[in-house]
Amino acid sequence: MYTNQSDTAHAPDAPTPAALEALLAPLRDAAYTPERCEALAGTIAEIRALKDERNAVILAHNYQRPEIFQVADFVGDSLELARQATTVERDVIVFCGVHFMAETAKILNPSKRVILPDLRAGCSLADAVTGEELAERKAELRAVYPDLTVVGYVNTTADVKAECDACCTSSNAVKVVDAMPGEHVLFVPDKNLAAYVQAHTAKRIIAWDGNCYVHHQITPEQIIAVKKGLPHVKVLAHPECRKDVLAVADAVLSTSGMVKYAKENAAQEFLIVTECGLSDRLVLEVPEKKFYKSCKLCQYMKMITLEGTRDTLRDLAPEITLAEDVRVRAAAALERMLELGG
Ligand code: SF4
Repeated sequence: MYTNQSDTAHAPDAPTPAALEALLAPLRDAAYTPERCEALAGTIAEIRALKDERNAVILAHNYQRPEIFQVADFVGDSLELARQATTVERDVIVFCGVHFMAETAKILNPSKRVILPDLRAGCSLADAVTGEELAERKAELRAVYPDLTVVGYVNTTADVKAECDACCTSSNAVKVVDAMPGEHVLFVPDKNLAAYVQAHTAKRIIAWDGNCYVHHQITPEQIIAVKKGLPHVKVLAHPECRKDVLAVADAVLSTSGMVKYAKENAAQEFLIVTECGLSDRLVLEVPEKKFYKSCKLCQYMKMITLEGTRDTLRDLAPEITLAEDVRVRAAAALERMLELGG
């Protein structure tokens, strides 16, 4: 279900309302009533027809709504989506994710029209630093540490990426930092991911003071309470969580790392400590295992709806545009990541 199909084949038939209801039933979400499923099935059929008409592909992040997964050609984490964006041959990329992700697709595949269903879909991490602030801090630090390089998490605006030597995602952050030539690395903007990287590298990390509000609110006490009631549960945590939360996890993984681990590990029960969309994906994709979720929703990711996706395809707007000089510099940082990132 979650592989790139659009450049090579037509998507399968849209599900009937009854089939969609049965598909979403394992989520036990009261919102998916027969009436809602009927409306969603109609919209799914409209989107599939529009995709062909517009010669478009839909890329969706793991945190999206389950109904979005039904129209996506590819679902993945930031690194997978960035790689996928470089390979799209169709004319239009519809990005079901947040603004910086759509920008990343435009940076890497500038000849395509990239559209985002809702421009309000931002990110608390991306908002934590501007290109101007980073340029200023970089100059200050370089006066003290001439060997300083800057590694920017992909959860940043194009302006910020343009100031970085390399980008990284949660799955390749340690590898990218280790590949930097000097000892000192300014890591922006997530202080939790910076702390995780610092624990796994000999480089000296200087962290920016940003966080993802979704992961930062999770506490170790919440995890410990679940473990008490479910002693066999495997706890999978995202590195955007606080250090004390990671300390009580069984594995620290990116969202796609969690999908792989849950499928391959012999354990039957997992607590998924990240945004809830990922647990929904796992419930649908790995029905034979049990997934408990941390009930944290990203308000920005959830701004993308199925109806909004249909409208954006119909109108081919809003479109992501970038100044070419910024795009070129940001592309250099992203390409460095793709070369190093594995
Ligand atoms: S989950 Fe956090 S990092 Fe991801 S888009 Fe939402 S606020 Fe940004």
